[in-house]
Amino acid sequence: MDDFSLVINAGSSSLKFAVYRRPGSEEWRLESRGQIEGIGTSPQLSLKQADGRKLIEEPAPEVKNGRDALDALARRLRSLYGGSRVLGVGHRVVHGGAKYTGPVVITPEVLADLHRLTPLAPLHQPHNLEAIEAVSKLLPDVPQVACFDTSFHRSMSSVAQLVPLPREIRERGVQRYGFHGLSYEYIASMLPQVAPEIANGRVIVAHLGSGASMCAMKHRKSIDTTFSFTALDGLCMGTRPGAIDPGVILYLFQNLGLSAKEVETILYMKSGLLGISGISNDMRDLLASHDSAAQLAVDYFVYRATKEIGALTAVLGGIDGLVFTAGIGENSAEIRRRICGASAWLGIELDADANERRGPRISTGTSRVSVWVIPTDEELMIARHTGLLLGLTTAHNRKHKPSQTQGAAYSH
Ligand code: AMP
Repeated sequence: MDDFSLVINAGSSSLKFAVYRRPGSEEWRLESRGQIEGIGTSPQLSLKQADGRKLIEEPAPEVKNGRDALDALARRLRSLYGGSRVLGVGHRVVHGGAKYTGPVVITPEVLADLHRLTPLAPLHQPHNLEAIEAVSKLLPDVPQVACFDTSFHRSMSSVAQLVPLPREIRERGVQRYGFHGLSYEYIASMLPQVAPEIANGRVIVAHLGSGASMCAMKHRKSIDTTFSFTALDGLCMGTRPGAIDPGVILYLFQNLGLSAKEVETILYMKSGLLGISGISNDMRDLLASHDSAAQLAVDYFVYRATKEIGALTAVLGGIDGLVFTAGIGENSAEIRRRICGASAWLGIELDADANERRGPRISTGTSRVSVWVIPTDEELMIARHTGLLLGLTTAHNRKHKPSQTQGAAYSH
């Protein structure tokens, strides 16, 4: 096999990875992708080829932590792709703070900066950085790139980035950062090709997965987004509540006597679809259930999404296009139908057959606002950034030129 680049998305209990090849200097081509799930409980390694063919699916009992997971991954990749060189490793890093407006080649200074951001994303950042440090030990000569979930939203106005608390608190880094940026950046890069009529217009992208958020874009740049200081704000999610009155949190501390750890667990793990339904955090289970609590959870999910579409439309001063992406957005015709039905007042008219077929265009020819389903690909976005920053691929050879936001990124 040709030399390849590796994309790593390290989480608290899983390590996702993708291997890309570079035919000539054009767009990366996916070779295989996989994950090690259940780190710390019952680890399982799976790897599939780009065409979906299973290459590996086996328990990985030796994996007790993130470092072990990278060792296990390195062993499997060596046995599969032994004769090839790793050209570069791109990492998904959740937080780039206010400083990193684009991806960056990792140096000791950058790493120190990113460690300082850990208090802003304590559940994710340490795992992302641990993976970078493990790779530099395993492959000391291979350059690494950090790609941030926050960068795409640095085009937001200072008003939209504001958390209206006293200055001394804001100076400690309390502001609206936004997340899911790599997904939004990928969708923005696809608009000229898939939906050219809205690519330069006012577009709301709904990333509806187990984590869910929306982004209001003008000319493919982020104007506002529903996530803010943390990935708890905005829409109802699988296990996170989305926006709630901060007074509720005070009540949990002051009247119910819960500890910070207990409140954190409630907010990140026990709320949202799971908390409302008491059944599941998976939209498929809830849609299949006749239980009234499951139906209430789905109703709330749709209600909250509809409300945010209204708010973001106001911020954009109108809407030309709506794009659905991620697990629920790409796969659930029912949720798309319900959100679009509730947003009909904006001039959205769904084409029922196209919606069932997953589009890509799912609105009628006469719909004032066009509606689309565009599958996201955060790993490819990371591979693109890694290739460009390391000089492995060239922008002019790629199908989709980088947006201005991406272009600015390469000044780091
Ligand atoms: P993601 O985080 O983008 O991988 O999305 C994962 C979520 O997508 C799952 O938890 C499911 O709730 C949801 N999902 C996947 N397929 C479907 C489907 N066919 N119908 C409804 N929800 C789905």
